[in-house]
Amino acid sequence: MKSDLVIVYHRQPYEEVMTETGIEYRENSSPNGIVPTLKGFLGSAKRGAWVAWKEAEDTSTPDFDPVIEISDSYGTYDVSRLPLTAEQVKSFYHVTSKVAFWPILHGFKERYNYDPVDWPAFRTVNWAFAEAAAEQATDDAVIWIHDYNLWLVPGYLRQLKPHATICFFHHTPFPGPDMFNVLPWRGEIIDSLLACDSVGFHIPRYAQNFAAVVRSLTGAQLVEECDTPSSLAAAGGALNDRRMPLALRHYGNTVSIHTRPVGVNFELLEHLSRAPDVLKRCDDIRADLGDCKLILSVSRTDYTKGNIEQLEAFARLLERRRDLHGKVRLMLVSVGANRNMTAYAEVQERIESLTGRINGTYGSLEWQPVALISQAIPLAQLVAYYRAADIASITPLADGLNLVASEFCAAQDLQRPGVLILSEFAGCAVLLDGAIPVNPFSNASMDAALDQALAMEKVEASSRMTALRRCASTWDIAAWTSAELAHFSSLRALRNTAEDTPAPRPAA
Ligand code: UDP
Repeated sequence: MKSDLVIVYHRQPYEEVMTETGIEYRENSSPNGIVPTLKGFLGSAKRGAWVAWKEAEDTSTPDFDPVIEISDSYGTYDVSRLPLTAEQVKSFYHVTSKVAFWPILHGFKERYNYDPVDWPAFRTVNWAFAEAAAEQATDDAVIWIHDYNLWLVPGYLRQLKPHATICFFHHTPFPGPDMFNVLPWRGEIIDSLLACDSVGFHIPRYAQNFAAVVRSLTGAQLVEECDTPSSLAAAGGALNDRRMPLALRHYGNTVSIHTRPVGVNFELLEHLSRAPDVLKRCDDIRADLGDCKLILSVSRTDYTKGNIEQLEAFARLLERRRDLHGKVRLMLVSVGANRNMTAYAEVQERIESLTGRINGTYGSLEWQPVALISQAIPLAQLVAYYRAADIASITPLADGLNLVASEFCAAQDLQRPGVLILSEFAGCAVLLDGAIPVNPFSNASMDAALDQALAMEKVEASSRMTALRRCASTWDIAAWTSAELAHFSSLRALRNTAEDTPAPRPAA
């Protein structure tokens, strides 16, 4: 049975667990993250499908069923597992996407590496994703593709499904032409994205950058734009933009540019953070800390996340504020997702050595200034740390959005409010009003932010946190879901109207 909503995301929407009785497809243990968020849309369709890859030794005869039906709390839907060899996965994902695209998307030209990219292999994998998606979709389905590793899928899909509503969403930043046009495949990528009905971004700046890239490479015209709503220009920081592009016109086609930040499940986080076991754990954490203040930083290990700069700022704090020795601790959760990739392994090593240096230089038997955690902490435990922390210091050098900052706000207790230090270069900085903004490229700014946060009185912290929580709950996951569904409906209606209206006759 064909589906009227097909989600194309490279990972499978469940955890595959081998048990004594065979393979079990379990719902992801963590309720946060992109997979559960996207799965929430499957129930909105008459029939939904998901397309992902799965490793196979021989892609022509994989040792698994390419398409399976899953029934879980999100509904009943099909999952198409595109068989890819380990070599294909390495080439399209670990090399082309992570070594070439990722640094450019985040503005790290010096880390970009063109040499190992096998572009024909990237095309082949994207073509295979397009075919698998087309196989699942009705002719007029909404096909929703996620992230840069599938950039060529829309163009291929348009050939296979000319009447489908094709949407693409970027979960990363999108850079301007000076950065994006470093990619030698820029024309092919942009042509593919222009085959979409809609191209989506978290915040207006990324949408503006996309429009600028398109205009640098093609004759497309910006045909619609609007003022940025004040709630998306909250803090007046480096990523703010006063105008938002809404539509481009290219060779008679209109491509909608859609700006909508993904949110967190505010209600769930608030609920979790008040559960008796979380409150107990939070009390235990506080009791262990004694009169030490806890600064919490949570992210993946990635050069974009600024963990090294964060540790350096903490070392400077201890150097200039002897009064804080024994009175402050940094809990740095830096989860090494990609240890087999050189760039991330290098960052992890530097984090470990810097942590050792700080603890060796300033610590004692009774007081260890930095607690480095490299394993992922389950959400139910993480919320206890969010609630116990005095300060969350979220200081990426570049970050598409950053959900941790909003999760921290959702888990707060206004009787004992924490303070949020937030990089101006995290996408969520434009919507979270009330944080202490910080420029992670400036030592002075990082130092001042820590001093301000440590000195903040409860009244100010409480009023800032009230504002922050309002912003995080306004832009939560429910708001994102309903906005996306409304967007799909209007795109579909537009496509139907356009297809029902005969093309104007050329003048005689
Ligand atoms: N996270 C987690 N346990 C950890 C560290 C992170 O569950 O130990 C989750 C966190 O709650 C958040 C996500 O990982 O939902 C990270 O999302 P974010 O947007 O902040 O960063 P990304 O890794 O997507 O760049």
